[in-house]
Amino acid sequence: MTSMLDVAAAREIVLRHAKPLAARAEPLSPDVLGQVLAEDVVADIDSPPFDKSMMDGYAVRSADCASPGVLLKVVGELAAGAFLPTPVGPGEAVRIFTGAQFPPGADAVLKQEDTTVEGEVVRVQKPVKPGTNIFRRGSEMRVGEVVVPKGTVITPVALGLLAAAGRLSAKLQRHPVPRVGILATGNELVNAEETPTVGQIRNTNGPMLEALVIRAGAEVYPCGIASDDARLEGHLKDVLYEDMAIISGGVSVGKYDLVPDVLKSLGVETHFHTVRMKPGKPLLFGTIEDTLVFGLPGNPVSAAVGFELFVRPAIDIMCGRSNPGPKELRVPLSEPLSAKHDRPTYHPAVVGPDSVRPLPWQGSADLRSLLPANGYIVLPPGEVRFAAGEVVSVIQSG
Ligand code: AMP
Ligand code: MG
Repeated sequence: MTSMLDVAAAREIVLRHAKPLAARAEPLSPDVLGQVLAEDVVADIDSPPFDKSMMDGYAVRSADCASPGVLLKVVGELAAGAFLPTPVGPGEAVRIFTGAQFPPGADAVLKQEDTTVEGEVVRVQKPVKPGTNIFRRGSEMRVGEVVVPKGTVITPVALGLLAAAGRLSAKLQRHPVPRVGILATGNELVNAEETPTVGQIRNTNGPMLEALVIRAGAEVYPCGIASDDARLEGHLKDVLYEDMAIISGGVSVGKYDLVPDVLKSLGVETHFHTVRMKPGKPLLFGTIEDTLVFGLPGNPVSAAVGFELFVRPAIDIMCGRSNPGPKELRVPLSEPLSAKHDRPTYHPAVVGPDSVRPLPWQGSADLRSLLPANGYIVLPPGEVRFAAGEVVSVIQSG
């Protein structure tokens, strides 16, 4: 099926074919941030494991402190990590510090700012209610309770909780991240390290797409540059070997746009080949076995837009993340914007909290205009004249 689809329908097709990669039990390593847990993780102890003081002050019996001015005898001291087996008796207080185990007999921590010390005794300046400044055992998590549920993206906070739950060194079921092969095609391309000669240009898509893939949380396998000739087939075979293949250039209808036919000859099933959008109408999506194949247009802005709309969401799904973006937001324009396009158009923009600023833009080959951009204004087809303050649709780039 190769008819021209709108973006939403094309996205639906991509999302239907993208599946979370089969979970594997592996120890947590430093590169797990952004990966998704595929099992419920249960705490092996209560947290806190004991009633603990949340303040520096005195462990007291609140009934003793009803009237300001009362004197209590200081019978001991508890620093964090210490323990006091004997109960605090009537008329007594125990000096206690933040994080220390709360002693038996007492029922509140009177913070030190509400006391004055007079030798062996402490004078109570303010009454205190039972339970004040005590973080009770198990009030954060109880042994056996699910504290990091299946589907959680591993963040620094999640790692902290896994540590508290005693599971940091365990093998936990996680979705691996996809391995993504990246191939740039075009007779005119030279490596970025080289100086182009007549008719040549540097391969800008390769490094840009590699970085986009890394930032999307997947693993990159750079497959270099392929020319538009018989050697293309070998390069395409390499790139199709991974969980996902991103090919840039050569997907349009010109004589040298060989990618679609060669993919087909290699057994790739093409699900769509053109999308009603600008920039980047020629955009191919196919599958071969479990590998997703994206043929992005060669113009760098088109490749970047295609990545945001189709590739990043597919990576999200393969990683096991839910709700893949980009979400369309409605934001007022900071300045007027007029345009005339025959297709829905993604116009580079700076998206702020209160407004969106369209950037001057010369079209799909003008990557430089994208440098300050963090998103796109989604313009409807036809002639539009928006005034400053008018609300437009935007997407943010990841
Ligand atoms: P294509 O999609 O192959 O028809 O290429 C469209 C335009 O993008 C042409 O002007 C190409 O020279 C340019 N282009 C293709 N691949 C790249 C690349 N990797 N980096 C920069 N420009 C490219
Ligand atoms: Mg080309």
